[in-house]
Amino acid sequence: MDSEIHAMGGLQTYGEPVLYQYPEEMGYSYICPVQINSRGLMIQGSSIGYPDEPMSEPGFRIDGYDLILRFCETVDDAVEFIGRYNLFFEPAPSNLAVVDANGDAAIIEKTKSTFAIRKTDRRSIFTTSAIAVEKRTRKIQGNTTRTYQFGFKRHQLIENLLLEEEKTPTIEAMQRIMSNHTMPSPVCRHLESLSPYSQLVTLYSFILIPREQVYYFSVIRPGSVYPCEQESTKYSYCFT
Ligand SMILES: [Zn+2]
Repeated sequence: MDSEIHAMGGLQTYGEPVLYQYPEEMGYSYICPVQINSRGLMIQGSSIGYPDEPMSEPGFRIDGYDLILRFCETVDDAVEFIGRYNLFFEPAPSNLAVVDANGDAAIIEKTKSTFAIRKTDRRSIFTTSAIAVEKRTRKIQGNTTRTYQFGFKRHQLIENLLLEEEKTPTIEAMQRIMSNHTMPSPVCRHLESLSPYSQLVTLYSFILIPREQVYYFSVIRPGSVYPCEQESTKYSYCFT
C-alpha cells in the first residue's frame, strides 16, 4: 500500500504509525518517528549502558535530537555539532545513527560524558542497542555482562547479514535482515523468544530513502502482530 504524507498533525491511535511534523520554527522542519528533517538528515538512536563510567550530569536538560535536526544538514554538521556541545542524551547514553541525503552516514557512540565516531568505507553501517563497538567506548562499557554478550551476538548477526545483502541493497534485502529470527539473539525480537534479562521487543521497523523522500514503515499491532508479519506501508513525504 502506498500513502502520501504532506503534514500530519497530532498522534495516531495504537497500531498506526505515529507521525508528526514539527513546523519550520527555530530551525528546519522534521518528522517523527522517522526523524528526518527537511534537508534530508536522519537521526535514530538506541540505548546503551556504561555502568562504570562516573555520571556527568548536564547543567540543564535539552532535547539533543531536536537540536541536531533543527540546525544540521549533513552528517559532518551533526558530528561537529555534537562535539562542539558534547550533547548529553537523556535518559541514557546512546548509539546514534545519522544519515544524510548524500548517502553519508556515521554512528556516534555516546557515553555519559564523551563520545566516539564510527564511519565506514563499506556500503553499510549500523548500530544496535546495548553495546559499543569503537575501542575506547567499548572499554568504558566493559564486555562481561549478559546484556552485553546478548547484544554482541545480535551485532555479529547483523554484520554477517549485511555482508551478504549490501552488494544488492534492495528494499527486499533490507526487509529480509529486519525479519531475521536467528537465535539466540535475533534481529526481529518476539517476546516469547527473548531471555528474561533482555525483553526489548521489536515495535516497529522502517526503511528510509532520504534522496527519494520515501520510507517503508511497519508497526506492531494488537495481538502481538510483529512488523515482520505484516506488509510494510510505503510513504512519501514532502515538507511544506
Ligand atoms: Zn519477527
